[in-house]
Amino acid sequence: NTSAAAPAQTASQADARHVLHPWADLSGLGEQTSLIISQAKGVRVRDSAGKTYLDAIGGMWCMTLGYGREELAEAMADQARRMAYYTPFGDLSSEPAARLAERLSQLAPGDLNRVHFTTCGSTAVESAIRIAHYHFAAQGKPAKRHVLSRINAYHGGTYLTQSLSGKDADRTLFQYEADFVHHLSSPGHDPDRSNVSAAEKLQTLLEEMETEILRIGADNIACFIAEPILASGGVLTPPEGYQKATFEMCRKHDILYISDEVVTGFGRLGHFFASEARFGIQPDMIITAKGLTSGYQPLGAVMISDRITDALAKAAPKDKPVFSNGFTYSGHPVACAVALANIEIMEQEDICGHVRDVGPYFIERLRELRDNPIVYTVRGDHLMACVECWTGQDAGPNAANMALAQKVDAYCQDAGLLVRPYENLCIMSPPLIIDRTDIDRIVATLSDALAKAQ
Ligand code: PLP
Repeated sequence: NTSAAAPAQTASQADARHVLHPWADLSGLGEQTSLIISQAKGVRVRDSAGKTYLDAIGGMWCMTLGYGREELAEAMADQARRMAYYTPFGDLSSEPAARLAERLSQLAPGDLNRVHFTTCGSTAVESAIRIAHYHFAAQGKPAKRHVLSRINAYHGGTYLTQSLSGKDADRTLFQYEADFVHHLSSPGHDPDRSNVSAAEKLQTLLEEMETEILRIGADNIACFIAEPILASGGVLTPPEGYQKATFEMCRKHDILYISDEVVTGFGRLGHFFASEARFGIQPDMIITAKGLTSGYQPLGAVMISDRITDALAKAAPKDKPVFSNGFTYSGHPVACAVALANIEIMEQEDICGHVRDVGPYFIERLRELRDNPIVYTVRGDHLMACVECWTGQDAGPNAANMALAQKVDAYCQDAGLLVRPYENLCIMSPPLIIDRTDIDRIVATLSDALAKAQ
């Protein structure tokens, strides 16, 4: 408790004393000074001391239209004044949620015409798994409940979604024991640093997947969940053809395919949804969040195919036909209103076209940094990328390589650039509105930081 007479703390001190952050570094708990970001405009944010940074992280992969968009603020204020909230349970709804579901159905591939709103990406992933379980249980196949995921995946921060995730670094002391989750190998293939071809890698991954399906038994597997490109696990791109081939394997074994597009959707790869536009598949469910509202409000959604929802409706128990899943703030009207405005601006400004234009330039410019001796590799796709550091000895997230990346991050921050440190990587996912001049600034600052950190 703080006594009323205690001297006022700065926000940074209050934060350091009272907040336990997501993914906090516990070694510095209470002693660290928190960086308070208090203002932001476009692709730049300003801290409470007045220093400006170019935000190459885009908040947390989510600030797609950038900061300070009046139209988005207006959409939120307008909806809050009109009707801030009403329950979404049962057959009650709000206009923004209904209209947003309609718009998402138009944007989504194939027959993904039904939307189950949630509050964020994690709750959407959890809900999708429950939908898959409900789907098979309602058809009298309750044993079909196992889930295939991958090492290095990230699907959220709740107990189940962390069980689905496969990042070693997140497993300290927690026992993620969902007994129905199985992790296949990490599918990332980096042609610059691999001694096998993409085709060989693909074949190995598919053989492993089929072997695992046969071992567990297709009759026991409900679904496969996959980010088209693994994001926070280290921007890992599977070999060409992987998404399509895994999708076909799922079809062959009656396993539902859930595409987690929390990061890859809403423009980051140059399309509203990458599953079909980039990878040629029409999943049974697609998860979206983050860029759905351009980060202005928390919101998540599972888009579900008519094939699945029709089956759900037919097979639901007659005496208790209730799909018991959802949250007080599922499809919050203010969040849905901002998502609608976000989609409108994305279309008016052709944000996806812009990303298809500047995305390849971003990757091409970043790849110039590969000449630096402490760069092991640079990888990415459109506006998601990372620089992987090493001392030149052993690659990977060992202490020496992680220390190097931390140095690079610190130099960048000093020079007014925010990149996301993760293990020995500097991860970037700038707002989609970024232009070539700011891309050049990112590359120049990183280049300086890499030179200093050597
Ligand atoms: N899925 C993916 C691919 C993500 O990257 C994230 C968050 O980074 C999530 C799910 C979880 O989303 P949220 O943090 O909104 O719960």
